[in-house]
Amino acid sequence: MTRAAFLAHLTDTLAGIEAQGLTKRERAIQSPQGTRIRVGGRDMLNLCANNYLGLADDPRLIAAAKSAMDAHGFGMASVRFICGTQDIHRALEHRLAAFLRMDDAILFAACFDANGGLFEPLLGPEDAVVSDALNHASIIDGIRLGKARRYRYASGDTDDLAAQLQQARADGARHILIATDGVFSMDGHFAPLPRIAALAAEFGALTMVDDCHATGFVGPQGRGTPAHFGVAVDILTGTLGKALGGALGGYVAGPQPVIDLLRQRARPYLFSNALPPAVVGAALAAIDIVEAADDLRAQLAANAAYWRAGLADAGFTLLPGDHPIVPVMTGEARAAQVMAAELDARGVYVAGFFYPVVPMGRARIRTQMNARLTRADLDFALDAFRSAGRSAGVLA
Ligand SMILES: *Cc1c(COP(=O)(O)O)cnc(C)c1O
Repeated sequence: MTRAAFLAHLTDTLAGIEAQGLTKRERAIQSPQGTRIRVGGRDMLNLCANNYLGLADDPRLIAAAKSAMDAHGFGMASVRFICGTQDIHRALEHRLAAFLRMDDAILFAACFDANGGLFEPLLGPEDAVVSDALNHASIIDGIRLGKARRYRYASGDTDDLAAQLQQARADGARHILIATDGVFSMDGHFAPLPRIAALAAEFGALTMVDDCHATGFVGPQGRGTPAHFGVAVDILTGTLGKALGGALGGYVAGPQPVIDLLRQRARPYLFSNALPPAVVGAALAAIDIVEAADDLRAQLAANAAYWRAGLADAGFTLLPGDHPIVPVMTGEARAAQVMAAELDARGVYVAGFFYPVVPMGRARIRTQMNARLTRADLDFALDAFRSAGRSAGVLA
């Protein structure tokens, strides 16, 4: 009876989600991830992967993964500190640190874990975290798991950040850490790092930037938002699951004592398996490719500019910016879903984003550019967007 009541309660919750038009449905892809994918037996143009440089099916990464498996096996069957550290794990940590101009780096199973494990070991109840209101869920959860006092500032609002820093100082905080996404994934907006760094210096605070939507394709050599703005930050977190090959894995890069203490205390590191050799070997190859990929970065920027201009010209409401994340606003969740379905029927794979991923009434189709998309691909997609936009009532 208790079990039946519990399951009935969950079924009610699901019915409520469905009634509000908020159900997320997963479609199965039958091909590798790429600009062209096979879905339900149909070939579709893909505009929603975090595959910014198109490396997710790159033959060089597949070869590197295979040779790492041949040399180092399939799995580690261990956490790092027991018997899960191979030479290539340390090689990748050193490579990431050198790439990002940090002392050292530490790998996690995902950036969700990197952010989830970062705050608790570094900050105590005497300390403060000042966090952007639109930070990724993993930062929010990581902060919740720690004991530091929490302050939140309106996203990208450096006046509010200054006020919160002032408050944290007035409350007697010992150490203060400012935490922000480098790029906000739902909007494609950059964090105002130069002003954040200046405020950090003024208030004696440290800075942590989650650069998942920047590393590999933003800034010189793809070194991310700090390099893009020419400012130094104290701690960087990032993912291997987006531009750096798209598999999985996360990391923290920063000063030696930060990395050393995380290795001793970060719970997702201590109590979760080491990354598999195939992923580590491919990530080493990905960083080599990315560092030299000015051509891909230029193509990605050109694609983003062309795509934005085409959508704006068609009359869509976009969020301003120049990041390869290009959100097409639809307002209500239902409009985003209808638009996504209309695009699906026209051979374009996109995802509608709506509450709770974005605020109520701010639903959108989030499109993302990829360096491997051709002009013909983008023209095809623009045609599909114009006609789907009219069918969905998003365009007049
Ligand atoms: C994708 C993303 C993450 C999570 O990365 P995973 O490695 O997939 O866990 C964390 N933070 C931000 C800002 C992200 O965009």
